[in-house]
Amino acid sequence: MSAGQPAGDVAARAAAGFRQEYADEPAGRWAAPGRANLIGEHTDYNDGFVLPFALPRRTVAAADRLDAERWEVWSELSGERISFGGADVDEPGRVTGWGGYVAGVVWALREAGYAVPGARIALASDVPLGSGLSSSAALEAAVLAALVDLGGLDLPADRQPRLAQRAENAYVGAPTGIMDQSAVIRCREGHALFLDCRSEAVEQIPFDLDAAGLAVLVVDSRAPHRHVDGEYAARRKSCERAAELLGVPALRDVDAAGLDARLDRLDDPETRRRVRHVVTEDQRVLDTVELLRAGRVREIGPLLTASHASMRDDFEITVPEIDTAVEAALAAGALGARMTGGGFGGCVLALVEAAAADAVGAAVTSAYAERGFAAPGHFTVLPVGGVTRLG
Ligand code: ADP
Ligand code: MG
Repeated sequence: MSAGQPAGDVAARAAAGFRQEYADEPAGRWAAPGRANLIGEHTDYNDGFVLPFALPRRTVAAADRLDAERWEVWSELSGERISFGGADVDEPGRVTGWGGYVAGVVWALREAGYAVPGARIALASDVPLGSGLSSSAALEAAVLAALVDLGGLDLPADRQPRLAQRAENAYVGAPTGIMDQSAVIRCREGHALFLDCRSEAVEQIPFDLDAAGLAVLVVDSRAPHRHVDGEYAARRKSCERAAELLGVPALRDVDAAGLDARLDRLDDPETRRRVRHVVTEDQRVLDTVELLRAGRVREIGPLLTASHASMRDDFEITVPEIDTAVEAALAAGALGARMTGGGFGGCVLALVEAAAADAVGAAVTSAYAERGFAAPGHFTVLPVGGVTRLG
């Protein structure tokens, strides 16, 4: 459990928060998980492949209907209660701060033509905020599920990710892809979600760590984020320009088999490295999917580690804390380890024997101490299912 986490189960805390704020019982509780991307980094905006899975950390919305065009929202994390009315969700951006994610969901539903019920909502969460585990999508998905159920809205699960993404892109103003919302809404227990970012087709891929005696150790690097937005924009631009130079719609269309010959057509060595990362990373996702389909989960370790090396050397998006965590995890016996997320901070995933998870976590912590870095967080996970109603 991360530092400063209030005691007690998240779902119980959401319900208790609801009672305390509104002096009433909630009509129900809806829980949405955080997510981690197993492999496939910076491939999404190149029309490529990603493979996220849902984490047993979740955001719970306890809620009931309000017979007015009004939304009251309390979050344990800020300890404050905000409210907004119909005029605030007529157009994007009127509600700012964390309430914008909630207002964004209401706005996106209304924009899609749904009659959204007013609601009182209390939120609790143990998804770390801003660590790249997608607390924002968890929040959107939990609120969306609550409003859909409370209003009896006809919005099937396969259409919910787009709507939640629209809330984040258009209302909050955060330019994210479809991966986060797809993962937190559509993931299944014991599976990873193979997502083709061009077609948006998804496929459930068996990822039964438990049966294999394995687990994923999530290390929250706690590295201060450095120039993330600017670096992200630069990588994106570089990829778009490279696709243009290579005469393909997106880097996804560059075949990994003929890569070296293609790279020779690019003069700039930095651009060549960027392209190499994206093209080889797409291939690593496909290779990982293949192994998982065949039940060979232990064998994906080297692909995870190769992905990390590619992010470090070719895409140049890692930082010393992250590299230290990966190296220490591998030295302590992890089968594979890599940074997950956009880079310049965030989390590392290490595939470990379940019995060795604590020892690997301890090894990372002591490697951090040796380097003089602020202590990392770590916890062990198995893949869980997406958003659900708890009752
Ligand atoms: P990430 O999604 O990686 O955790 P983001 O920056 O995309 O990081 O989203 C984090 C933001 O989402 C927080 O700063 C906050 O505004 C909002 N948020 C997420 N979960 C909650 C919550 N349970 N209560 C209030 N705000 C939340
Ligand atoms: Mg987010």
